[in-house]
Amino acid sequence: MIQDIYPKIYHNAYKDASPRENDFILVFHGNTALVRFQLPEGKLRFPTLKEMEGHPCTYHYLFSIDCYPYFLALPDGDPLESIDTDTPWLPEGSLPGYSYENVRIFRTALSRHTAFAGITAHHLYAWYRDNQFCGRCGHRLNPDHRERMLFCPRCRNTVYPRISPAVIVGVINGDKILMSKYAGRAYTNYALIAGFNEIGENAEQTVAREVMEEVGLKVKNIRYYKSQPWAFSGSLLMGFFCDLDGSDQITLDTGELSEAGWFCRDEISLEDDHISLTREMILKFKENS
Ligand SMILES: [Zn+2]
Repeated sequence: MIQDIYPKIYHNAYKDASPRENDFILVFHGNTALVRFQLPEGKLRFPTLKEMEGHPCTYHYLFSIDCYPYFLALPDGDPLESIDTDTPWLPEGSLPGYSYENVRIFRTALSRHTAFAGITAHHLYAWYRDNQFCGRCGHRLNPDHRERMLFCPRCRNTVYPRISPAVIVGVINGDKILMSKYAGRAYTNYALIAGFNEIGENAEQTVAREVMEEVGLKVKNIRYYKSQPWAFSGSLLMGFFCDLDGSDQITLDTGELSEAGWFCRDEISLEDDHISLTREMILKFKENS
């Protein structure tokens, strides 16, 4: 899956560190990242501190992969001036060879550990970007220097990174699995039922509710499979298999899904993409024949 970058190792313990000249710097604008593709293989590259020379900004330590640290660059000055503008704070062309690319490229770009660094950094970027002011009193938030946390010097509010838990559900009906397609999304392959955990429910209750809401089916024997960080939606995805309980008659929520149906193992033609938990779960079902 996307987080499996072995033999590289992702270290996310917070450090109060400043970048050195060859450290990687992540620059984002909305859902785009500043990258270049290094020849001859076309491997993804991020700028280094040295390449950022002459472009003043503030750096936040993000994480390291093996012994290589990654930093986030954010613009100095009044954040209200840089919000909702079409122009990136570091305009395209400022760093020769680099361009802003949609973060969707991190699903498949190589090297895998660089792509994982890119999407994970984007999740953190969105958190820093969206938490510049205190949600309780409106004062400017300050970064803490001991842990990844923002605090309000006026009302003492503390703000930690936000991860939205969500479930992926493989509903099994004898020798068939339920697969569906999302309505109105760029991703058009078959997927599994999925949805965000709501306040007040446990993960198994989320499973039962999402299946009922999206396809009108009851389920039983809900069992945990694996989890996956999925920074594209700021989530931790938790995969569950369960069994159909009662009628197999699907009632589609057309706001969420464009289609859903029961598939036998030999009707599944998807290949492993080594990216998503959804795909791994579909193939897990297929191979367990
Ligand atoms: Zn406050």
